Amino acid sequence: MKVLVVNAGSSSLKYQLIDTDTKNTLAKGLIERIGIDGTKLKQEVNGDKYEFEHPMKDHVVASQFMLDALTDENHGVLSNMDEIAAVGHRVVHGGEKFTQSVIIDDEVIEAIKENIPLGPLHNPANLMGIMACQEVMPNTPMVAVFDTAFHQTMPPKAFLYGVPMDYYERLHVRRYGFHGTSHRYVSARAAEFLGKDINNLRIITCHLGNGSSIAAIHNGKSVDTSMGLTPLEGVLMGTRCGSLDPAVVQYIMNNDGISVDEVLEIFNKKSGLLGVSGVSSDMRDIDAAAESGNENALVAQQILDMGIKKYIGSYAAVMGGVDVIVFTAGIGENSIELRERVMEGMSFLGAAIDKEKNKVRGKEADISADDSKVKVVVIPTNEELAIARDAFELVKNL
Ligand code: ADP
Repeated sequence: MKVLVVNAGSSSLKYQLIDTDTKNTLAKGLIERIGIDGTKLKQEVNGDKYEFEHPMKDHVVASQFMLDALTDENHGVLSNMDEIAAVGHRVVHGGEKFTQSVIIDDEVIEAIKENIPLGPLHNPANLMGIMACQEVMPNTPMVAVFDTAFHQTMPPKAFLYGVPMDYYERLHVRRYGFHGTSHRYVSARAAEFLGKDINNLRIITCHLGNGSSIAAIHNGKSVDTSMGLTPLEGVLMGTRCGSLDPAVVQYIMNNDGISVDEVLEIFNKKSGLLGVSGVSSDMRDIDAAAESGNENALVAQQILDMGIKKYIGSYAAVMGGVDVIVFTAGIGENSIELRERVMEGMSFLGAAIDKEKNKVRGKEADISADDSKVKVVVIPTNEELAIARDAFELVKNL
């Protein structure tokens, strides 16, 4: 079955056409600057790169261009858009309403709208993508796959914050967690790869990219995760600060005379690796700068390493041990050095890596030392494939 996976941002549309039988990506594209000057579509099919610039005033027009590109005689992969059996949409915030992926109907659209206050940066854009696709593909079933859904199995002791219960009951303030599709995919894949039953494993998944989160997965269920009400909490990220004392907000506001929105903007966009190092939000630049003696880049690296170690230690404590540690996403899959630093001194947990086996980038590998009780693995994430599979499962019997 051919499933189109769509990830809509406020001015962008990322898409992949996936064959769920072979798991192959048939086409991959990105439309940028929708509604702004210089709208560009880039598509790649089997190494053939197709690119053009054309004004696209909104997501509906952009979706039509996406279909035109997919069915283009010279650069496309489909002879007809009816070959698309379903569209899987990435939706960031499903609140408490969605514990798994669903077929989109009016009620689902309403519920995604209701969750806009929880995901103000993402849900409106995800909705635009859904409605645009519905308009240009009115007969194709659409499925919503939520970043938060996998973490809905967390118990109250993990998802409640220590504030008056009224804030949970009235405003739904709680930990939701994100990257759920990735944590679910890599944990299942790790169990498969190791030939073990996920229902009998304590797994810690470290999704380390521009945004990073770590999850504790006990017998296939998420029992805790580092991101919270929003994706700001947890370990140090590219431009996000991660966890800090909330009183820092007031302290900065009072001293610098700036608003809470300005402080949050700084915590979201100017902090993290970028803010600490003053060099870049990109791990490769941080590594290069640290290597050449930049002390702020070095300490940025160390804050991240220590943060990951602390989550691994605490999640092992919460689950009564750990059987598998998974590294994934841009940094987790590629940074041999970070994996080595994070896993150093972890033998008290029964976890050690083999430095030679650790010399891999971007492919599935068991990097554990022979005598390590804990399996340490690299599993490239594939959120698009997970979304396509969910869509397939939901629409196959329609
Ligand atoms: P996103 O969260 O935007 O999907 P990715 O998962 O692609 O991001 O991760 C991007 C991060 O991965 C960047 O910080 C980048 O520097 C890092 N990265 C990619 N390749 C390497 C590498 N070889 N070594 C270290 N970091 C890497």
